[in-house]
Amino acid sequence: MVRTRHTTVSRRANSTVRPKTDLWWAHRTASLPDMGNPLVARMQGFGTTIFAEMSALALSTGAINLGQGYPDTDGPREMLDAAVEAIRSGRNQYPPGAGVSELLAAIAQHQRRFYGLSVDPAREVLVTAGATEAIAAVVLGLCEPGDEVVTFEPYYDSYAATIALAGAVRRTSALRFPDFAVDEVSLRAAFSSRTRLVLLNTPHNPTGKVFTADELALIARLCREHDVYAVTDEVYEHLVFTDSPAPHIPLAGLPGMLERTLRISSAGKTFSCTGWKVGWATGPAPLVSAVLRVKQFLTFVNAGPLQPAVAVALGLPDSYFDGFRAGLQARRDRLVAGLSDAGFTVLPSAGTYFVTADITPLGGTDGVDFCRELPARCGVVAVPTQVFYDHQEQGRRLIRFAFCKREDVIDEAAKRLRTLA
Ligand code: PMP
Ligand code: GLN
Repeated sequence: MVRTRHTTVSRRANSTVRPKTDLWWAHRTASLPDMGNPLVARMQGFGTTIFAEMSALALSTGAINLGQGYPDTDGPREMLDAAVEAIRSGRNQYPPGAGVSELLAAIAQHQRRFYGLSVDPAREVLVTAGATEAIAAVVLGLCEPGDEVVTFEPYYDSYAATIALAGAVRRTSALRFPDFAVDEVSLRAAFSSRTRLVLLNTPHNPTGKVFTADELALIARLCREHDVYAVTDEVYEHLVFTDSPAPHIPLAGLPGMLERTLRISSAGKTFSCTGWKVGWATGPAPLVSAVLRVKQFLTFVNAGPLQPAVAVALGLPDSYFDGFRAGLQARRDRLVAGLSDAGFTVLPSAGTYFVTADITPLGGTDGVDFCRELPARCGVVAVPTQVFYDHQEQGRRLIRFAFCKREDVIDEAAKRLRTLA
């Protein structure tokens, strides 16, 4: 099919004396009527991301954007200064394929410092263009077409698209409403002889859930029983609040898991620099090497001068990480108070940037409709949780609010939300 389409393009291109580089011709070619949908079939089920849609809605309505999860303040001064210094001192060319040596060392040191996990910076660490690229390179690098990937619903939106790109198959287990606990029966049922890996996100977007020690032990047991890899998305690892029922526990630290787990994280959330897109994957050398093989043909390398700056940030004292978490927790509490006063049923948020609200008490029955109307009703944007589900009815009445915004912004949003009551 692909070959046919290419043949069509080249035959038409050859039938003119105009050079292929001519913009006029490029435009004509793009609008030829008989070429069908240019998008490959496996991507056709994916529209514009909900984050882009809702951020555009915030822009067009002037509403406060508590939809897309990005901070509205900059990360630590030391990191920003180090990036400026790296640019000024000429570190502006391709960095080494796996990442600059000081960042590789800092990632390894960070894992040892916070979790007692040892990785060899020379062979077991890979820097990627955000966690997003790490997830994509892992799935593309480890899964053959038809292999199955087990993950939990609701899931971060890039998972489904990445699994589809790889030609792999998504098998999900839904976290149980209202506490988003793991359902052992459905998790066991999601495994099969085709399972290649489990893709786990904790602390969890969009729910704010932190997986408990027992849940992680179950997941680890199933990975060992079925002899599959685990891939953990831990981008919110430093955002577990003091009232969380569970601490953040990396799955890689459980018995028998280090040798089969790739841990993924990113500077974006921990250091409030989502636009830098500096992420990483760590794990056994053969796995990291498989991921690097793919990454080198996706972006080759990324973020040269930003990498040494992230190395500085990873080495900041505990006071930075504690203060960062406390600041987010305080903002969570301010927003939760506003949501409760507005009449929503607010579900617990133990970590991340996000809190989930049930719209039922406000007469809502569909989160997508509710979120589309919310800017006009009260000048605030949220994200409907159902779009993160395969079984959308399970999340139909849930919406997600981001609280990674300045206190005055959260307070203004809370004030507006209270008018719904
Ligand atoms: N995983 C989860 C759970 C996320 O919320 C996000 C958004 N930051 C990502 C991955 C992507 O991270 P990055 O921006 O570093 O690509
Ligand atoms: N991770 C962010 C969120 O969940 C958004 C990232 C994106 O826009 N792709 O809101």
